[in-house]
Amino acid sequence: MTETFDALTRLVAAGDVVVLSGAGLSTESGIPDYRGPSGAARRHTPMTYQAFTRDPQARRRYWARSHLGWRMIARAAPNAGHHAVARLQAAGLLAGVITQNVDGLHTAAGATGVVELHGRLDEVTCLDCGNLTSRDELDRRLREANPGFDAHVAHVNPDGDVDLPDEAVAGFRTVDCGICGTGMLKPDVVFFGETVPAPRVAECFTRVERARALLVLGSSLTVMSGRRFVIRAAKHGIPVAIVNQGPTRGDGYAAVALDAPLGATLTALADRVAGPTPRPGPAGAGLAPTAGQPAAV
Ligand SMILES: [Zn+2]
Repeated sequence: MTETFDALTRLVAAGDVVVLSGAGLSTESGIPDYRGPSGAARRHTPMTYQAFTRDPQARRRYWARSHLGWRMIARAAPNAGHHAVARLQAAGLLAGVITQNVDGLHTAAGATGVVELHGRLDEVTCLDCGNLTSRDELDRRLREANPGFDAHVAHVNPDGDVDLPDEAVAGFRTVDCGICGTGMLKPDVVFFGETVPAPRVAECFTRVERARALLVLGSSLTVMSGRRFVIRAAKHGIPVAIVNQGPTRGDGYAAVALDAPLGATLTALADRVAGPTPRPGPAGAGLAPTAGQPAAV
């Protein structure tokens, strides 16, 4: 363990490191390992783009659960792991931060230029007119359209999962785009069954290929969306380091693999290579301070 940590330290201390983070980095902020606003992928099948766009019933269920789950996401604050990444960046050791997370917590911790591979949950896009609006505004409109629905907040479990009876879902009213009036609204995140926009992927490949090392944080690399960057790094002879709780599908490519809690490990790493002074992020929690900013660099 100590030997592995030392190897990790040497790799990061040399600089030009690209970070690739996943859901495991945000679990210490109370955000479950999920993809999509409902916070519910663990016990519920994740929503696919096809079901969302074609099935009004599925869409209503999605927004009803998401309407409750959003409160938890909006309240979440960056944890020690996010702050450690921001410290590494402030110390000039990073050549980029790529995240698979849609919670905005890297930026909330003070990191800049974060590439948000799967988009951001605090923005909503209209599938007809393409306008981006804030999730806070949609939240207000959904509250107006569904007075009394908050009674169901009691059903949000500690892990953010939401149990909603069918009759509650059936009575939930979704809203359309407030700009064009009729367009279907979708959170500006990449759903299952959807592809990440090509320019965003290309930018990530470029960053990885120019890096001295790739540091994977809190991702089991089960989906190709993230694993492809590890494969690309390995192909270019760029060392890959992985810090994750549990095995990952990238371990075979890793020069260093550390199975350890993210917050404590990354704080120790930052203390070692970036100096002992923490660099606090902007005040406030979660997505609020960054709402309205562009989704990606
Ligand atoms: Zn519209």
